[in-house]
Order: sequence, then structure tokens, then C-alpha cells
Amino acid sequence: MPYRLGADLEVRCVSEPNVLRVEGLRVHYQTPAGPVKAVDGVSFAVQPGERFGLVGESGSGKSTIALSLLRMIKPPGRVEDGSVTLDGVELLELTDEEMRRVRLARISLVAQGAMNSLNPVKRIREQIALGLREHGAAREGRAFDTFLTELLERVGLRRGVGDMFPHELSGGMKQRVCIAMAISLEPQVIVADEPTTALDVVVQWQVIDTLRRVQSELGAAVIQIGHDMGLMAHSVERIGVMYAGKLVESAAVRDLFRAPLHPYTQLLIASLPSLDGKERLQGIAGSPPSLLNPPAGCPFHPRCPFVMDVCRTTMPPPREHRPGHFAACHLYETS
Ligand code: SF4
Repeated sequence: MPYRLGADLEVRCVSEPNVLRVEGLRVHYQTPAGPVKAVDGVSFAVQPGERFGLVGESGSGKSTIALSLLRMIKPPGRVEDGSVTLDGVELLELTDEEMRRVRLARISLVAQGAMNSLNPVKRIREQIALGLREHGAAREGRAFDTFLTELLERVGLRRGVGDMFPHELSGGMKQRVCIAMAISLEPQVIVADEPTTALDVVVQWQVIDTLRRVQSELGAAVIQIGHDMGLMAHSVERIGVMYAGKLVESAAVRDLFRAPLHPYTQLLIASLPSLDGKERLQGIAGSPPSLLNPPAGCPFHPRCPFVMDVCRTTMPPPREHRPGHFAACHLYETS
């Protein structure tokens, strides 16, 4: 039985086909040199049960979006503008206590680097019990043992793992524990921020398979953050491509890989190794821009092989150029 919120939050839900909707999100980090525009006007929506991936280079704003969805941005970072609605509830307007109740119960995080997310001096069972207690869903004695066994088995771990400390587990096991915690209250949305960082390739695939299986069993939506286009292509249904704090393209995986529209996406895909390994790998010339002083117009223009005059002055708005396929690029503007 999924954990339920109090009636005060339920009553603020409105009918909405998307379980999560992000509109015009802007997140800045204040620095002595000025604001770093880590996320600059990002909008997207995710349907119940959907697997949506966000890809991009380091510093493109992916992880800042992940933290914003859970209201976990810490100073000097701040959400400057925008809206994040979960099942019709505006998360950015909740009180801290209301948001604490929503976190884990309705939207949960599988954070980067499992070791940093687990308490090194508490056994796994204590850490899972704490999460339940904090949300008024504590189980005692036998009921908790049964719950724990089922939860661990769901992510492919034996029951004995509950009695272990994090340092006794391998990297893959720790990441499975993090997934178990993230699903312990059966949330509607799971945000997985680079869930396979620092794992070897075989374990990466196992962890991704586990995440995929449990979200499908729960019917939860997943927002998976990463930089590995290949891994992403096999684990999500729709991909959004981030560049310099902006979402520059989004489409179903198949459409994005078959016919990418944005030049940055085209170059990202061209930089992937082919199976036969005969083609020379292509890099992307130049470096990502400073988010302190991003270039005027399209932020990709200093690196873009198709740059035009208008690109240097005007940011193209994201438009639906094919059904379900959005891109922000002047190449496809008709007038
Ligand atoms: Fe290149 Fe211009 Fe498109 Fe930006 S808007 S990606 S610079 S063509």
C-alpha cells in the first residue's frame, strides 16, 4: 500500500496527465563574481511510469535540476524562478515540513555516489527503518523483518544485507541499497542522479536493470541523470539533452538517435564509438561556456559548425519540430 500524504496536500492536487511538470526553472549560484546560471529556463514533463533521461556534459545543469526537484538546493544556490508540480502540487510553494513529507514518499532520490548517501556507522536495516519512521510509516518486529526482506529481494539483495554496514558491501550492492531506500515508500517519481558513477561496466548494467525493474513494478516515473548516451539509450524511453543550463533537445530515444536535430546532439551521438570500432572517434571542438558569463544568443554558437548571425544574438526557443521532438535551434526556424 503506497504511503499517503495528509489530506491538506491531497486537496491541493489537480487533475494532470503528467505526474511531474517543470516549467521555466531557473537556478542560480551566487558567487563574488556574479550569479552562475546553472539552470536557465528549463521546462519538461514526465508521465506516470515513464523513464525520462537527462544527458549532457559536466556542468550542464543536470544534477542541479535533480536537486531542485527535491528542493535540496543549498545556498549559495537558489531557485530563482519557475514551477515544479508533482501530481498538481506546486513543490516550490510547500513549507519545509510539507516538502519533507513529500520527499521519499512521493519523489525520491538515488544520489550520485552511494557511499556518500549511506550512513557509515549504521546498519542498513537501521537506515531503512529511520526513513519509514520519519514518514510515520514505521513497522516493528516481525512486520519490519518481512518488509525488509521483501524490499532487499526486490533489488536483488539477500536478507542478510540488512544486518551489514555500508563498508561491508561492494559498490553495486551499496547502490542497490540506495535504490531500496528510494522505493521503500513507493514514490510516484524516482530521480536517479548518475546512479552508476564509479561502478564497473558490468555492474552499471545490473544496477540500471534493477532500477528499471523496480520502477516498472511500482509504476513509478524515473528521471535518470547521466552523461553516458549509450547507457541512457538502453534505459530510458525519452531523452532530454542539456547544454549550458538549457534543455536544447528532447525526443523519444529512437527519434533522437535516428534523426537528432540540434547540432550539439548530433555531435554527441557522432562521438559515440561504433560496434566495429572502425570509425575514428569525433570529439566536439571547444569547451562548454562559463555559466557566469554565458555567450549571448545560443550558448552553443561558439562551437557550432552551423552557426549563423542570428545565433550570436538570439536564443532560439524550444519548438516541436516533429511530433514529440523538440529542439531549440535556429536551423529549423521557418521565418
Ligand atoms: Fe548552432 Fe545556431 Fe542552432 Fe545554436 S541555434 S545550435 S548556433 S545553428
